[in-house]
Amino acid sequence: MPRSVRAMLEVELNSWQEHAVEGHFRGQNPWMHYHHLCTPSLAKITGSEEEEVVCTNSLTTNLHLLMVSFFRPTDQRNIILMESGAFPSDQYAVETQLRFHGLNPADCLVELKPVAGRRTLSSEQIRDTIHQYGNRIALVLMPGVQYQTGQVFDMAEITRWGHAVGAVVGFDLAHAVGNINLKLHEWGPDFAVWCSYKYLNSGPGSPGGLFVHQRHAQNPDLPRFAGWWGHDESSRFAMQPGFRPMHGAAGWQLSNAPVLGMAAHRASLELFDRAGTEHLQERAAALSAYLRHRLEDIQGRRGRHAIELITPKEHGSFGCQQSFSVGQRGEELLQYLQQNGALLDFRRPDILRMAPVPLYNQANEIDLCCDLIDHWLEQHSRP
Ligand SMILES: *Cc1c(COP(=O)(O)O)cnc(C)c1O
Repeated sequence: MPRSVRAMLEVELNSWQEHAVEGHFRGQNPWMHYHHLCTPSLAKITGSEEEEVVCTNSLTTNLHLLMVSFFRPTDQRNIILMESGAFPSDQYAVETQLRFHGLNPADCLVELKPVAGRRTLSSEQIRDTIHQYGNRIALVLMPGVQYQTGQVFDMAEITRWGHAVGAVVGFDLAHAVGNINLKLHEWGPDFAVWCSYKYLNSGPGSPGGLFVHQRHAQNPDLPRFAGWWGHDESSRFAMQPGFRPMHGAAGWQLSNAPVLGMAAHRASLELFDRAGTEHLQERAAALSAYLRHRLEDIQGRRGRHAIELITPKEHGSFGCQQSFSVGQRGEELLQYLQQNGALLDFRRPDILRMAPVPLYNQANEIDLCCDLIDHWLEQHSRP
């Protein structure tokens, strides 16, 4: 939790106490415009123009809203291409969107699955599958970083391949935002969504965000599910019928912003601003490379049967996260690490996830944690 969260919340609590509902228009940061305070930082973090991003809703809500606008199936073109290991919320969203359009996921959902004996997808496999289904694909929906394996996908290439067959391209950046270097505007996907409570450190349930590329900023033909916070700001409180969307991403907002969660988000975004994206990326690259080096060293000594490195090792294919497996005893190792002060994460059946981050981790912590892993493997290695 950023130390400045309490003070940031205090400002809005005071405004609430002092101005009650009038806090929407009065006080230090009138709530009516509060989300604007997040925009410049989010544009920097995602490599976007300010009109392309907005802090609003949660990830899954935004995914639904943007699929309403961008998944427009026809008889000939009605496939959604995603990965088979996608985060469950994304799977549920896609499946129910297909059914909402009267389509059967068994026919219209194509899932990319790693080939036998592999844990991750190759770029060739993604490219070939997009070509294989070609003009039958309506939407390519991929993560920026795979949440289990830590694999970073080549979003520029995926966008190119998807657009080349006439598909819409969207990204789930839950594990990418605040982690890897993003250039959404340049890469050119149609949309992207993210949450703020992973690498962005903004606290439980704090609002996420969405990206809509500039080329769609003012497209009256895009259908959407609208709400008053997406309506033209100058006449929002006139309360007149007739929806007129805000220019760009802001037009996908629905509701009065959850200011307290957003205040926590702002506290964190200020830290990102102060540290600077380039500086953070440099530090992240150094820490990630060092962690990879340490894990490979452990594997070199203990053997592949003792520890399997799941995250691909190629340059650019991993961010802060490294995933590995020690077989059936992963949960035991997790507990051992936790008892000794290292917080990792375990995903059934056997994936351990570790992510030193540039804002608050240091190389000596990687050493401490890797020494613990090495020691545990030594104690538990098979004869
Ligand atoms: C964490 C995560 C989510 C969570 O969605 P919410 O709507 O914010 O709860 C969705 N997708 C992915 C890939 C995630 O990692």
